[in-house]
Amino acid sequence: MLLSSRVPRVAGGLRPLTIRGMPQTRMQGRRSLHLAPPFLLDDYTPRYQQLSSVDAALKRSQAYAHLRNCNLCPRECGVNRYETTGMCLIGAETVAVNTIAPHFGEEPCIQHSTQLTLLFQGHNGSGSVFFSGCNLRCAFCQNHDIAHRRSGFDLTPEQLADWYVKLQEVGGVHNINLVTPEHVVPQVALSILAARDLGLRVPIVYNTSAFDSAASLALLDGLVDIYLPDFKVWEASSSRRLLKADDYAAAARESVAAMHRQVGDLCFTGDGVARRGLLVRHLVMPGREAEGARIMRFLAEHVSRDVFVNIMEQYRPDAHVGKPKRRQKGGSGGSSSSKPTEDGNDGEGKDEEEVRYADINRPVSKDEISIVRRAAEEAGIWRFCDPPKHDGFAI
Ligand code: SF4
Repeated sequence: MLLSSRVPRVAGGLRPLTIRGMPQTRMQGRRSLHLAPPFLLDDYTPRYQQLSSVDAALKRSQAYAHLRNCNLCPRECGVNRYETTGMCLIGAETVAVNTIAPHFGEEPCIQHSTQLTLLFQGHNGSGSVFFSGCNLRCAFCQNHDIAHRRSGFDLTPEQLADWYVKLQEVGGVHNINLVTPEHVVPQVALSILAARDLGLRVPIVYNTSAFDSAASLALLDGLVDIYLPDFKVWEASSSRRLLKADDYAAAARESVAAMHRQVGDLCFTGDGVARRGLLVRHLVMPGREAEGARIMRFLAEHVSRDVFVNIMEQYRPDAHVGKPKRRQKGGSGGSSSSKPTEDGNDGEGKDEEEVRYADINRPVSKDEISIVRRAAEEAGIWRFCDPPKHDGFAI
């Protein structure tokens, strides 16, 4: 039974949902919701509200234990963060936060405003908390003021919880969107547990680089509703040079698979806003479309063909990319024999090699984006963050 003769592509040949209890004659001519039933939730209660008090207490004690011997990301520094800091340079008592505000720059299903901006942000936006600091050191970081310079203010988990509730009550946001939280997962866990006692009831979005550890994701199990990992590069040589992490792709593969095991494919309520599941981002990088294609095949073969994917086109040179090369000390005083450092480029003399990371010092091309998209489609992925081609929601 259909509301419209135009049938969107949905999993397993399933048809769009009809409005229960409404005669077909009345439904004809009305707008179809175009919601695929496997991905439609009648209602949704956040996972953290379903935890028993015993499980909540266990999570609290695990959070404190992790801070005393930090293994919360693949760096596995093993430090007691009450006494010192590891590679991320963030301690135990507080988190550094740059911005807390309703945000309208996320995937449509997080925000909810028009059909194009429905996915996360909804009409009222996604309640975003931008954490300062990061456990990666991406040469091209698109948020480097926040991630590398750790600008912001310190908040305790309890103060964070108050902000979540303010975002919900005053901002009317559709979710709490934790941006770059990998290095502060225990504090985040404590804040979610405090906020649940204050009446928080919107989903938690964990917006991550995917450089998470298994221990960290285990701590988040039951607290996070939507995982939003950005799977950046596939090759170890790329992650070593561009992210300063040798084992990034292996960690990202395990993390994304673990996230999917926890929450499954992305699901929506009837208003078109995402409530639970996995949404994978991939920022297409100049000259690295083959790595993007490999990531898409991995997702289809080892995670799910129903995985919701956002192939992002907005890469721009930033942070260290395109900056003048530093010369090694002891060189020949700025002569042409001076050697570049750090970025792995060893050529000299040509104009384009006089800047750092010259190979990614340009926007991505349409061809590069198309190659990644085509690889995803050929692998069987079909749920993309696109404008809808029908009059329903883009799910
Ligand atoms: S979060 Fe990662 S980088 Fe920071 S101290 Fe823990 S293991 Fe080290």
